[in-house]
Amino acid sequence: PKRHHRPPIFLPHLVASMEEVEQTYIMIKPDGVQRGLVGEIISRFERKGFKLTGLKLFQCPKELAEEHYKDLQSKPFFPKLIDYITSGPVVCMGWEGVGVVASARKLIGATNPLNAEPGTIRGDLAVQTGRNVVHGSDSPDNGKREIALWFKEGELCAWAAVQEPWLME
Ligand code: ADP
Repeated sequence: PKRHHRPPIFLPHLVASMEEVEQTYIMIKPDGVQRGLVGEIISRFERKGFKLTGLKLFQCPKELAEEHYKDLQSKPFFPKLIDYITSGPVVCMGWEGVGVVASARKLIGATNPLNAEPGTIRGDLAVQTGRNVVHGSDSPDNGKREIALWFKEGELCAWAAVQEPWLME
């Protein structure tokens, strides 16, 4: 018997060219975990349309926190920052997508939550710079560097999301 007509099957990996696809490291800081904001924060990146490539709850050792924030070593708040980041478990995430680095920074909002626009994570959910609930890489190069720093190879997944043809033309 004649088969029914089927719509074309989109191949997600053909939708966006590989150069446009970026990786960013997003981390829910210990205050975000303690305040029960993990689901809320993950939802914002999921709903936007980005793809999760890595996810773990993790107690960060001091050395890793210092390496991650090494550019801020000379700042007066550096010791406090390391204490904050190591004060409880964090949620480490890799997110992938077209323009994901800059877009995630917009979703997160300004470093000082008092300057962060309503609608952003920090604008909606935080009050102080020293308790600003989430981290996001500030460049595609740092996105790659930070994902490599926080994840071991087997902890990351490359996968095709079925929604891709409905997110990007
Ligand atoms: P962002 O996280 O927005 O990229 P920075 O890279 O400038 O901001 O700083 C990294 C983190 O260091 C901030 O998210 C915040 O947790 C902390 N921090 C920055 N400035 C201060 C400050 N003046 N006092 C306390 N903590 C700070």
